[in-house]
Amino acid sequence: MQIAVGGCLAQKDRGEIVEKAPWVDVVFGTHNLDVLPALLDRARHNAEAQVEIEESLQVFPSTLPSRRDAIASGWVSISVGCNNTCTFCIVPSLRGKERDRRPGEILAEVEALVAQGVVEVTLLGQNVNSYGVEFGDRGAFARLLRACGEIEGLERVRFTSPHPAAFTDDVIDAMAETPNVMPSLHMPLQSGSDAVLRAMRRSYRSAKFLGILDRVRERMPDAAITTDIIVGFPGETEEDFLETLRVVEASRFASAFTFQYSPRPGTPAFDLEPLPKAVVQERFERLHALQERVSLAENEAQVGRSVELLVLDSAGKEAGGRKDAATARLSGRSPDNRLVHFAVPDGAERPRPGDLVTVDVTRGAPHYLIADSGIDGGMYAVRRTRAGDAWDAVQSGEHDHSHGGCGDSCGTGAPTGGPVGLGMPSLRRVDA
Ligand code: SF4
Repeated sequence: MQIAVGGCLAQKDRGEIVEKAPWVDVVFGTHNLDVLPALLDRARHNAEAQVEIEESLQVFPSTLPSRRDAIASGWVSISVGCNNTCTFCIVPSLRGKERDRRPGEILAEVEALVAQGVVEVTLLGQNVNSYGVEFGDRGAFARLLRACGEIEGLERVRFTSPHPAAFTDDVIDAMAETPNVMPSLHMPLQSGSDAVLRAMRRSYRSAKFLGILDRVRERMPDAAITTDIIVGFPGETEEDFLETLRVVEASRFASAFTFQYSPRPGTPAFDLEPLPKAVVQERFERLHALQERVSLAENEAQVGRSVELLVLDSAGKEAGGRKDAATARLSGRSPDNRLVHFAVPDGAERPRPGDLVTVDVTRGAPHYLIADSGIDGGMYAVRRTRAGDAWDAVQSGEHDHSHGGCGDSCGTGAPTGGPVGLGMPSLRRVDA
């Protein structure tokens, strides 16, 4: 076994990592994932740790050979780096300025994934709304979404993350008018206080954020909106925090990732005086309680709706794991990306991971929905997909990576049975 440590913090700490952990074989940065196999070889050959950091990106990570955990879903980078300078964030100093891939290259990669059985693609960038600025086309992201709508066989398109400062209405129009772009939006708020947003160097204000949500809901009334929020940024007063609660209440987020601020060495905010831990904890708990209440109400409002679910592999943690094994329910994601556990009626067709199932929601909980309509004789319909066929082929061994053929280039990995994740790419070795 060899151990490699990579990414933003590895890039920052470099040699310190092998000093503190001499058992680490390789340390690499955010720009040189492509040379990892060579670094591992060199570490083995020379019997010493290899530390190599590139200051600028040579190869887009998602163009590297990869093995996807989920057959139905794939992730495609559209840009790397970020031109913003949020004071809590290490990305700008380590990943550098934003670099955008050309649309043709992105679409070719999406088409290649679809040809392998992928039905859902997530477009990835630190700030997808500024995509295209590098090559002088401010409308490029909206156009990219519309172009994804033309790809036959691609059922679902998602993206992450948008930035409220750069969010423009042409993107809302493209979302609303492109049937395979899903009605879900994960847009980081970080704070509801304008003073704190200024201190974070985030160049939008709460009114602008709420205005975007209004326009998204006007065009897509069923859109689910989720967010990230930091509690206890240095200097945050009780009044500032109450502003966050106000904006959260008004935003009606389906869910939120909430974090207690923690200083990151190398960021502009690192030297600021931290708030007392007890204050941050107490605010965090109040925010958490509010969001739980909002999430529950939003999910209960889904009861009675028909939803088409992309079926997950129920062995996976993402799908609910043991809970599903105990109840015999399967799990899927709705178009708005909610997690839904659903019952399969006795004698009915059992969907495969990657198939689509239509059911009615029968109960809402803060973090998931239940859709047991099928067992009461209500809505239950399975739509078989190419992703389900690909899953079948892998399970039955018809699609065998071990005897040449695809040489695993299909990215569907070996027969599964273990957990299925989010479809994030992981590096695999290619011998020349
Ligand atoms: S926009 Fe996101 S990636 Fe860019 S600096 Fe801010 S938090 Fe970091």
